[in-house]
Amino acid sequence: MANRKRVLITGAAGFLGSHLCDRFIKEDYHVIAMDNLITGDLRNIEHLFKLENFEFYHHDVSKFVYVPGELHYILHFASPASPIDYLKIPIQTLKVGSLGTHNLLGLARSKKARMLIASTSEVYGDPNVNPQPEEYWGNVNPIGPRGVYDEAKRFQEAITMAYHTFHGLETRIVRIFNTYGPRMRLNDGRVLPAFIGQALRGESLTMFGDGSQTRSFCYVDDLVEGIYRLLFSDYALPVNIGNPDEITIRQFGEEIIKLTGTDQKLVSLPLPVDDPKQRRPDITKAKSILGWEPKISRSEGLKITYEYFKSLPEKEILHKDFTYYNKQ
Ligand code: UDP
Repeated sequence: MANRKRVLITGAAGFLGSHLCDRFIKEDYHVIAMDNLITGDLRNIEHLFKLENFEFYHHDVSKFVYVPGELHYILHFASPASPIDYLKIPIQTLKVGSLGTHNLLGLARSKKARMLIASTSEVYGDPNVNPQPEEYWGNVNPIGPRGVYDEAKRFQEAITMAYHTFHGLETRIVRIFNTYGPRMRLNDGRVLPAFIGQALRGESLTMFGDGSQTRSFCYVDDLVEGIYRLLFSDYALPVNIGNPDEITIRQFGEEIIKLTGTDQKLVSLPLPVDDPKQRRPDITKAKSILGWEPKISRSEGLKITYEYFKSLPEKEILHKDFTYYNKQ
């Protein structure tokens, strides 16, 4: 249909990008998906290829981006997004958040499209205030192992606001807190796939430090709903989207042990450098501006996610290496 609105989603083959593709297809948009497939996986969007309102570009947005035809919205979700990724592909992480964002802002400007960028709770670093409101400026180590991600995302926010104020571009900034659900990479090193993978393989669950650090986990469908509402709001300043239900990593490990029925225990390994001690979103803004709050409890979301991981081919569950590593 010629009159469908056209949306470009970068990082489309990744965890969040693929769920966003599904949502915009469901809303009858024409979806232009883009990914360089370093950490993304085409299997996440394979089911969409047969649709006439879906197309895929295998492209790295750190290089000049060209998309023919009209474009109404751009959602920039391309980025490695786990601490292990930052260690293995630090330069790409920096480039996609900085050069990639610049390219896409230029594209948005030339197409008169509205651009939404995926920022992160990592802009708050190892926060000294809890929960974190959008006004908090953060406590980030620029040269630590997470610096490549944190600073790229902070630059991304800065350049996006500059395009907004200087060029009058319509922009939206979502600060995403820890999110989970089907299509996470089993081996990306993040705590949830790590624990579930270990439980499925009958290994001990590797808790870093004494497990007293906290996180607040949001189910992916809730996150997508928040992003969708933000895109169509008229609010250009950053908005936190996450689930404020905070839990220690030790408690979280115990929940996974219960959920999976494994007879394994938590073992403590050294805490990675600059690992934030606490994290919980203040979602006052999302509630008042977007009328949004999460609906799916951790126990509900974890059940769905566990079923997904269990359904993966056995050889994938047993394979512990980082699959993207050979693709570079
Ligand atoms: N973590 C852990 N065991 C693991 C992986 C992570 O205890 O096998 C901890 C990690 O130290 C951090 C928390 O779980 O405190 C969340 O880590 P993740 O990498 O998922 O995301 P982060 O929120 O740190 O970016």
